[in-house]
Amino acid sequence: MARYTDSVCRQCRREGLKLFLKGERCYTDKCAIERRNYPPGEHGQGRHKFSEYALQLREKQKVKRMYGILEGQFRRYFDMAARSRGVTGEVLLQFLERRLDNMVYRMGFATSRAEARQMVRHGHISVNGRKVNIPSALLKVGDVVSVREKSRKITRIQEALAQAEHRGAPDWLEVQVEAFSARVKMLPQREELTMPINEQLIVELYSK
Ligand code: SF4
Repeated sequence: MARYTDSVCRQCRREGLKLFLKGERCYTDKCAIERRNYPPGEHGQGRHKFSEYALQLREKQKVKRMYGILEGQFRRYFDMAARSRGVTGEVLLQFLERRLDNMVYRMGFATSRAEARQMVRHGHISVNGRKVNIPSALLKVGDVVSVREKSRKITRIQEALAQAEHRGAPDWLEVQVEAFSARVKMLPQREELTMPINEQLIVELYSK
């Protein structure tokens, strides 16, 4: 499978905002956006005028990069959202939020979605008491996600939880730090997703 292997901070600089791809570093002044908030490359500091299409494309790329998803899978989420009830853009964001790797990150068991994905793949996570090693598994309301008993002593997980306690968990999750588990209380509503995303631009792009 194709994978992005260049510096992930370049992705943030390309999109002009923090995508929080590198864990704790993103919250320090070592963040590349704090130091060089302009697109990478020779013409990064030049003036740019974006066409309507370019704006739509950038928005789609931004969201894909934020959630660490490749084009094919992102397109499938869009098609599922378009077939579902509700506002397509909002349902699309809900599908992205329901992914197991995203939930592990939101619950504070990992400091980035990439780290969360690796934890899931390595078998450290269970859903409703059963091991699940598929990062794209979609969770539903009532599901309980836990760090498996044998993995609870892993330093990175303990550090991630300690850091997450300072930041707090979203309202749609019920996190029990001592039990290394969290329950999906409800699906996030649009106003609760505070990342700067204009999902309508993605809908327009895919509806051409
Ligand atoms: Fe993005 Fe984090 Fe790198 Fe900052 S440190 S540019 S937020 S990945």
